[in-house]
Amino acid sequence: MPSSGSIAGPVAVLINEFSKLPTVGPKTAARLVFHLLNRPRQEAQALAEAILAVKDHVRFCSICYSLTERDPCDLCTDERRDASIVCVVAEAKDVYAIERTGAFKGRYHVLGGLISPMDGIGPAQLRVKELVERIGRESPREIILATNPNAEGEATALYLSRLLQPLGLVVSRLAYGLPIGGDLDYADEVTLAKALEGRTTL
Ligand SMILES: [Zn+2]
Repeated sequence: MPSSGSIAGPVAVLINEFSKLPTVGPKTAARLVFHLLNRPRQEAQALAEAILAVKDHVRFCSICYSLTERDPCDLCTDERRDASIVCVVAEAKDVYAIERTGAFKGRYHVLGGLISPMDGIGPAQLRVKELVERIGRESPREIILATNPNAEGEATALYLSRLLQPLGLVVSRLAYGLPIGGDLDYADEVTLAKALEGRTTL
């Protein structure tokens, strides 16, 4: 009997699991666990199943590398979206942040991170080669560099602008006004929509 019937065992295990999540500290983790203990079993089951469904059924789109159940994803197959503008973001979560604004009707490309020499992440660790190949295949007229307004985001945008400008397309960058040092997905929808609208050509 690993937990010898004690209720503290499973509670401590779940608090520990929640604590591993981004932005969730031990206090919030405990609050979540005690909240769940007060909810019906079916609610806990729905949560557990939703977590597993994400792991079992969601994968990367083979064109844009955002998360999808169907490959290619809905964003890549939607004919109403403008295939001539590709918005380059660091992570799949940034796609959701920009989609929430409703201000962008083009396509996406998810790099899978940002250039960060201190963490050993260079262009080779990101989906840069895939982006260049895609540009060769689809010939978009504009690439929007929508990386975070922090040091890694700026370094990545600079690298990509130098790489892509010789390919003869418009390379633009999100307008300033985004909170410096922050993540795209922390910006509110209006700020992010304005940054997209007021993007500057590099
Ligand atoms: Zn896609």
